[in-house]
Amino acid sequence: MYVIDAPVVPSVAVDGSADRFPVHRIYCIGRNYADHAKEMGATVDRGNPVFFLKVADSIWNHAAPVPYPPATSDLHHEVELVVALRGGGANLRASQVAALIYGYAVGLDLTRRDLQAAAKAKGLPWDTGKSFDAAAPIGALKAMPGALLEQGELRLEVNGELRQASDIGEMIFPVTEIVARLSELYTLTAGDLIFTGTPAGVGPLQPGDRFNARCADLPPLDGAMGPPRPTHA
Ligand code: MN
Repeated sequence: MYVIDAPVVPSVAVDGSADRFPVHRIYCIGRNYADHAKEMGATVDRGNPVFFLKVADSIWNHAAPVPYPPATSDLHHEVELVVALRGGGANLRASQVAALIYGYAVGLDLTRRDLQAAAKAKGLPWDTGKSFDAAAPIGALKAMPGALLEQGELRLEVNGELRQASDIGEMIFPVTEIVARLSELYTLTAGDLIFTGTPAGVGPLQPGDRFNARCADLPPLDGAMGPPRPTHA
């Protein structure tokens, strides 16, 4: 027994199923598309992927509008392919990765860009810019056990206007390499999600904006930004 009620396990809907995928951790890679690295003024280091994490309960898999986060006036969208693992391990080889795949979804790596930029300028961690409540809206997962998804359109419209458009084949580190490199740093586990990076065209989302994210033939992510949460009295 726990001394308080146990926190709810965050989870994601599975397309065509009443069952849900339980989330263990959310890993993310940065600077994984050359055009986005360039727009951020960053150089791509093909030897050293940039990894960061979001807290597991930052996943937002609800029809309700995404609450606009506090402490920012420059919330940015980053549309990304998301990988869901059904197995894990440490020090994996790229050739071992396909067998660990549960499926894929399209998601948004929401970013408090002003906080991230301030942290970068001071050489501080990115956590407050990247990991916060509802920082990871995600569509339903498509179960594709054992499948590698290496090509396919990735796009985002905001209020009907095209903001980001690329192909996941443009990734610098493909899915197999991302998972293998992550497993040198962390023991990966069934339930882990991995956001695989965003192409160029990142930009602001405002309260009331509608977004439509697509990746290949995965279930779409359609939603809206809600108003800021009321502050505590
Ligand atoms: Mn990202």
